[in-house]
Amino acid sequence: MNIIAAVARKPFEDFSLEELKLDTLKADEVLVKIEGVGMCHTDIISRDQSIPVPLPMVLGHEGSGRIIEVGSKIDDLQVGDHVVLSFLSCGSCGNCLDNIPSYCHQFPEVNFAGTRRDGSHTIVDEGEKIYGNYFGQSSFATHALANRRNVIKVDKNAPLACLGPLGCGFQTGAGSVLRSMACEPDSNIVIIGGGSVGMSAVIAAKIARCRNIILVEPMSVRRKLGLEMGATHVIDPHAGPAADQVRRILPDGAQYILDNTGIPAVIEEAITYLAAHGFLGLLGSVSPEVDIKLNLTGSILKGHRVQGILEGDSDPETFIPELVQYIIDGQFPIEKLVSFYPMSEINAAIIDQHEGRCLKAILLPG
Ligand SMILES: [Zn+2]
Ligand SMILES: [Zn+2]
Repeated sequence: MNIIAAVARKPFEDFSLEELKLDTLKADEVLVKIEGVGMCHTDIISRDQSIPVPLPMVLGHEGSGRIIEVGSKIDDLQVGDHVVLSFLSCGSCGNCLDNIPSYCHQFPEVNFAGTRRDGSHTIVDEGEKIYGNYFGQSSFATHALANRRNVIKVDKNAPLACLGPLGCGFQTGAGSVLRSMACEPDSNIVIIGGGSVGMSAVIAAKIARCRNIILVEPMSVRRKLGLEMGATHVIDPHAGPAADQVRRILPDGAQYILDNTGIPAVIEEAITYLAAHGFLGLLGSVSPEVDIKLNLTGSILKGHRVQGILEGDSDPETFIPELVQYIIDGQFPIEKLVSFYPMSEINAAIIDQHEGRCLKAILLPG
């Protein structure tokens, strides 16, 4: 079928809207009409080749929509189902079998190769080859093919066009608090960076009934939103060292710290206010070459736990329906985190999100 998609042609260059042809679906795939798709930093760094993907490619990995066709081997999804598309995994390696599919041994191959695992293309234009199957979806498009493994059926009472980021960004922030760290009630958490991932971590910390939820964020509009979303304190790192400001609230340091910035100086400062036996979760990375310094004796004496986190350690098949239930119950005010743009405005949406005029842009393919 013919689709309209935003194509990434060259690093650092604007996306272009193009009419392309989608392959017919395989037995283990569904065809989804995309209702909304989130813009994630990972899309940008893929286009710009910090994550090497073949170009030109249709990116987009936070899609939500309705199923319009179901492959012959799938018997638990139907035409008309509302679905969120998440990352793809192989389903057969040790980590997939242990329900931690974000650490799938095949993760790069199935999400970034630009083709299906059998080498076939999901975008089948004659002439120039355009790569697809990004995160098993390539959802910067009116329609996407996705594999049964990365399609999650969701409750029809939730606002469908908003739900795509549950497949990546919101799942990452919320999963870090509710899964990776599993913060217990009355614990204290510092969340560094109040973008869409950090903000969903704030919301999750409130759901987890943390006692002190401290958001460190330089933008005043985001600090204000953080307070609305459940932060008990907000800190402006430009108003003085964050470590001093955290210590005034938590003299013994923070039990949990979640860094979304990936900035070494920020992370190294965070270690100075991590409590004994505290847990530091690392989500952000500014470049694959960046290291942090960690003092061994200090870390050992304090029993510090430092952990990298991908996709919030979540199993999308169970975690996304859980998040959708929080949305329906009013505990996850997703509509306050998103701003809608027609897909034709994709390049403006990227700039607005980068400059903080919106927290999470959702593109509407129309
Ligand atoms: Zn796997
Ligand atoms: Zn993402």
